[in-house]
Amino acid sequence: MRLPESPHLRLFLRRLILGLGLALLFAWLALRPRPDNDDRLVVREWLAMGTLVSVSLYLDEGQSRAAAESALTGLEGLLADYERRWRAWGDGELAALNARLAQERVSIPATMQPLFARAAELSSASAGRFDVRIGRLVELWGFHDETQFRSTPPDPVALNQAVAALAKAPPLPPDGHAYGPAPGVWLDFGAIAKGDAVDRAIDHLRSEGYANAIVNAGGNLRTCGRRGNRAWRIGIRHPRPDDRHRLLATLESTGDEAIITSGDYERYFEFDGHRYHHLLDPHSGQPAQGLQAVTVVTQNGALADAASTALFVAGPQHWREVARALGIDQAFVVTAEGDVEITAALAPRVTFIDGLHIKTVP
Ligand code: ADP
Ligand code: MG
Repeated sequence: MRLPESPHLRLFLRRLILGLGLALLFAWLALRPRPDNDDRLVVREWLAMGTLVSVSLYLDEGQSRAAAESALTGLEGLLADYERRWRAWGDGELAALNARLAQERVSIPATMQPLFARAAELSSASAGRFDVRIGRLVELWGFHDETQFRSTPPDPVALNQAVAALAKAPPLPPDGHAYGPAPGVWLDFGAIAKGDAVDRAIDHLRSEGYANAIVNAGGNLRTCGRRGNRAWRIGIRHPRPDDRHRLLATLESTGDEAIITSGDYERYFEFDGHRYHHLLDPHSGQPAQGLQAVTVVTQNGALADAASTALFVAGPQHWREVARALGIDQAFVVTAEGDVEITAALAPRVTFIDGLHIKTVP
């Protein structure tokens, strides 16, 4: 555009154009559709317990973002301590205990006794499908060390010896006070500790005054409260292909519950066209067959975590009976063929992506 010759008029027109431009910009900023129209939502993600931890808080009126951020920093510390305590290999408290277990009777520290007792109970209720004494098998398969996976299955002779030793080893004591000597046992709480940790995380946030939150540690998720005037919406990952962002299903949660998934895609290697993954059947020593993923919904995270592993190991024939034995009525599985079987109690709450074959079971 050519501006007029008069300098005053030129200045006036320039200012007018600038003013109109700014007015338009502000109008757009104020009116643009905001996908997450939520200044009350505070989100933080970090790596902990060998996975991605993601926390969302929905602030009540009057709660400040700065205070929420400092509560989250407190939570980071809490989970780091927790991870150190329950780490099975390396320099944690459980690792130190493991190192003595073969030779002697070891007292369990008071802070660790409740989860020991819980693990003992869930192990017997699942008829040994969930078994924290499984560490030697996990180690033989190389799933204890995220930095270097094996690329071939372990030596079958060593595997059979480890399975036989586990079968002969003493059970965990129901009171969780002391254990050992237990040759052949290396304790690994990997299938229950993240569920227990998200329970503690929610307790921590509640005690700091945050009544609306989601804590997700790599598919081990706990909710409390809601997201303002609507429910929390939870996405459940599709087991195939190996893509973190592909959704299988969604469900809404307004209450206090755990939504926990175990899948054969978390840790695995492929050999000879076969997938060898980290969910092991303690009775055979082999990765459990027949399912790709299991999701369990119940109130307690530790229970949901152990149950998701136990149901996975139980497989397509037995998962419902093991669910009943553990008191789980909301669960679904994805079979090796990619079909879904879901309990009648959970079916009405879940929306699956199109094209799936879904069977509701009692
Ligand atoms: P994720 O850790 O991927 O959430 P799980 O909660 O199912 O999955 O826990 C799997 C971990 O638990 C394995 O990496 C291994 O350390 C351990 N584990 C494997 N099989 C069993 C089992 N049958 N019982 C108890 N722990 C198991
Ligand atoms: Mg589990």
